[in-house]
Amino acid sequence: MTFELPALPYAYDALEPYIDKETMIIHHTGHHQAYIDNLNAALENFEELKQMSIEDIIKNLDSMPPSIYTTLRNNGGGHYNHSIFWKIMAKPGTTTPHGKLLNKINETFGNMDNFKQLFKRAALSVFGSGWAWLVKDKEGNLYIAATPNQDNPLTCGYTPVFGIDVWEHAYYLKYQNKRADYIDAWWNVLNWDQAEKNYVQCKPDI
Ligand code: MN
Repeated sequence: MTFELPALPYAYDALEPYIDKETMIIHHTGHHQAYIDNLNAALENFEELKQMSIEDIIKNLDSMPPSIYTTLRNNGGGHYNHSIFWKIMAKPGTTTPHGKLLNKINETFGNMDNFKQLFKRAALSVFGSGWAWLVKDKEGNLYIAATPNQDNPLTCGYTPVFGIDVWEHAYYLKYQNKRADYIDAWWNVLNWDQAEKNYVQCKPDI
């Protein structure tokens, strides 16, 4: 069994005007596909690892064979992160914060505006390429985290609720060097229904 590119749950232009169609096509069919191709190539001679889910590979990175550890971390991470990312976005204006997650955000961060400011600060703090995340621990407590490259909080025992890709390939065509503008715009495409699901489930949908 090999890993395959998951279909987007919406059209390439569905996130316009906040994320443009061309960026989505390149990001999905170019970048994500490349992570998957590299991941499959690395696993070619490791039959037992091919039976594992991508979550389990990322969760257990430290016990992966040293010869393919870096490839799994970068490209397995790339596959996992992007699989979460496509699902956590939706057509603008179709979802709003609600439910257990909204309550916990208010309880943890005071209010939504304060949370968004702290999350933005984390996303801006990533030097070079990486991600900002809202994660939970086993008790359902929320934390904001940033990871470099294609690392995922799952490797450190935290479960992602949602994350924003702040690699330049995610925004450069439309926003160029203005990462802050991309982050501000991204709230319009966050799928709060999926975020709520990810929060109440034991792992995020991919
Ligand atoms: Mn990306």
